[in-house]
Amino acid sequence: MKDTTLFIDKATAERIASEFPTPFIVYDERGIKRRAKDLNAAFSWNEGFREYFAVKATPTPAILKILLDTDCGLDCATLAELIIAERVGAVGELSMFSSNCTPDEDFIKAKELGAVINFDDFTHIDVVEQLCGIPQTVCCRFNPGGNFGVDDPSGNVMDIPGDAKYGMTERQLIDAFVKLKSLGATRFGLHAFLASNTQSDAYYPALAGLMFDVALLLERETGVRVSFINLSGGIGVPHRPEENERDIFAIGEGVRREYDKRFADWEQKPAILTELGRYVLAPNGALITRAIREKHIYKEYIGVDASAADFIRPAMYGSYHHVTVLGKENDPHDKTYDITGGLCENSDKFAVDRPLPTIENGDLLALHDCGAHGKAMGYNYNGKLRCGEVLLKENGSFEVIRRKETLADYFATIEKYF
Ligand SMILES: *Cc1c(COP(=O)(O)O)cnc(C)c1O
Repeated sequence: MKDTTLFIDKATAERIASEFPTPFIVYDERGIKRRAKDLNAAFSWNEGFREYFAVKATPTPAILKILLDTDCGLDCATLAELIIAERVGAVGELSMFSSNCTPDEDFIKAKELGAVINFDDFTHIDVVEQLCGIPQTVCCRFNPGGNFGVDDPSGNVMDIPGDAKYGMTERQLIDAFVKLKSLGATRFGLHAFLASNTQSDAYYPALAGLMFDVALLLERETGVRVSFINLSGGIGVPHRPEENERDIFAIGEGVRREYDKRFADWEQKPAILTELGRYVLAPNGALITRAIREKHIYKEYIGVDASAADFIRPAMYGSYHHVTVLGKENDPHDKTYDITGGLCENSDKFAVDRPLPTIENGDLLALHDCGAHGKAMGYNYNGKLRCGEVLLKENGSFEVIRRKETLADYFATIEKYF
């Protein structure tokens, strides 16, 4: 069972809202540090382990800085993300650059910062060689094709790498290593991301086993021993109360078992890297929104001041996010509501047919697990302005870390008739 206790109570949310009106995403500094520390501890058996937090999940500098200060690096995929990494001080090998369909300027910036370029394709080698030269440290992204499945009592994982646009085939990987070596690369890494938001402790160990075998194959075929293996993202978080939390220590041990089977006789053993976004941050952010309208037709509706523009996962994926009516945690959940935003899209619902306590206008609602892939996926449909972000600090104080958008922001790109 998932723990549905929220890190913020009504008094704290009202205290923030009195200075910084709803809606906003609030992040829990203590929880972020705890997850980052647990992850580092779970892989402490591996010398050189490092988590490169996936910037796309939460591209907010104040959050990234907390992670950097907790021994993490950053994983970037675009020019903007590289610039954010640069601004918060994640230069050199504190940044991975795992991009795809990459524009020239992005490669040039990554090289300039000394970020580790993770080649998504064989053809990108010539591109980088011509643009800025092959760096000494390189990484290649692997796609095994076919189906990838894991049967496990804690949950099954199934995805189809054969349909995914990312990475190179095994043959291309071999050719890429040979070519990169001939162009001056001296330190090599291997990367793969085969399934997203997995609900099984067996995903990472299964992925690790597969990649470790590829590392041995690459050594046989090219003579290159990889220096690091990047297991990337994909460890999920539970969303529904009846789902279970992932056990990061069991996951770390599972990877270790696969590791010990293969690298015993390597003098320089490969470092394990991760690029987790969701696992580290999703439970440590909540969308705080106020009930502003009610409606009674064929169903009971509560309208709130946030919309899918602020947090799109329920509208886009139909994903469940737990709702707490702050201050009414222990009231009977004897009403059934749809909780909606104001977009002219019927998918703009944070909850559908959800048993909840009686909600009155003015009540504060918290949507759980909004810390990753949440605010970052927001958009401006219907001219809705995206919400701001607040950090709830360990000492109980709070800080606004991103203001809300204004109408001036929204209109700023218009060039005619305005
Ligand atoms: C999105 C992404 C991640 C993070 O994925 P999570 O599901 O948040 O763990 C890591 N690496 C790459 C290359 C990604 O595209």
